[in-house]
Amino acid sequence: MEIIRIFPSDSVTVRAGKVFDGHSPIPGESIDIVVSGGVIREVRPYPREIPPEPSGAAKILDLREYTVLPGLVDCHVHLALDGNDFNKSLELWSRKDRLEERIGADLERTLAAGIVAVRDGGDREGIGLEARDLVARGAMPGPRIRAAGAALRKKGKYGSFLGPGLPDGSLTDAVEKMARRGVDQVKVLVSGVVSFKNYRRVGSIQFAEEELAEIVSTAHSRGLKVMAHASSDEAVRMAVRAGVDSLEHGYFISDQSLEALAGAGIPWVPTLAPVANQVRGRPAARHSPLEREVIVKTYQRQQRMVKKAAGMGVRIGVGTDAGAAGVRHGEGFMDEILLLEEAGLAREEVLRAAAGSGSSILGLEREMGMVRPGFKPYLIAVRGNPLDDLRHLANVEFMILPSGG
Ligand SMILES: [Zn+2]
Repeated sequence: MEIIRIFPSDSVTVRAGKVFDGHSPIPGESIDIVVSGGVIREVRPYPREIPPEPSGAAKILDLREYTVLPGLVDCHVHLALDGNDFNKSLELWSRKDRLEERIGADLERTLAAGIVAVRDGGDREGIGLEARDLVARGAMPGPRIRAAGAALRKKGKYGSFLGPGLPDGSLTDAVEKMARRGVDQVKVLVSGVVSFKNYRRVGSIQFAEEELAEIVSTAHSRGLKVMAHASSDEAVRMAVRAGVDSLEHGYFISDQSLEALAGAGIPWVPTLAPVANQVRGRPAARHSPLEREVIVKTYQRQQRMVKKAAGMGVRIGVGTDAGAAGVRHGEGFMDEILLLEEAGLAREEVLRAAAGSGSSILGLEREMGMVRPGFKPYLIAVRGNPLDDLRHLANVEFMILPSGG
């Protein structure tokens, strides 16, 4: 995969074969995407009678054999984890050099998968937040990273690797401390995780409803969105009532909660891969036949709810939970979008989730997610048309990025 950077001083015309603009395919077989001043100015059919040298100093990037689409967005990753071995991931936390090397390789894999932005769901040490700063400084190649730092969780409840754990009270202070650390969003653990041993069992609720409301209002007063880890329908309902900005996981969500999400315009990141991948490939051997049955029932239920949600107008984000055991950074994205397609989403809907919805969940909807005038050129090019087969996205040949982006 080759990365092409466009500087604000460049005038570049990306001459594409087909274009999916983030919402729909643009009719026609050759489309010019005109970029200048670091912004897409025009998207128009390629004028066939154009002289070989375009007017002015514009460069032409000939991608007529490719489909060009917005760069992909992963709404849920954990850069502190390697996607393979949880304990080994944690061992590396105290060995800075090797940790950075591992994260660098995983960020390269992320770019190679066509992913231009990720949202890091946090870790106790703030490793994802540090990776964000390394990439932003240009010290490490990688996608744009929006980081939650460490997750807010209750002492003694699930998620000791995600955040230090809060005593009772002090929630406003806890959010303000995260704001001072410079996080992009606040992550809160409303519940534990789904059990692979007992169908429908989910780790217990962590916060009272008024506590969640305090977290959300403090975060919003600091201009920060709240991403809520919530499985079990009770956790989902609490998160929705508290007014969170995105719902993560949401296993065992009910029809009524889907209606509530649709009504409130809260997007859902259903993270199918971390469950489904447990019975596919290498991790399958770690689970007993009974567990595998529970796992299959759990993710297939989630797929049915995803299909319903899309029908009700709930915005779906693609979140892989990359870093969780069985979900590799970068590669996990293809797993997740194929699971969304398998759930019954049309390929066009999957692509909308993968770019436009993701960019708004990350708070980057003014910059990326669309091939339209006014957006920055975060683009990828693949041979073949992903609307015919999403697997074409496995071979991203070019990524176009605005310089510094
Ligand atoms: Zn997560």
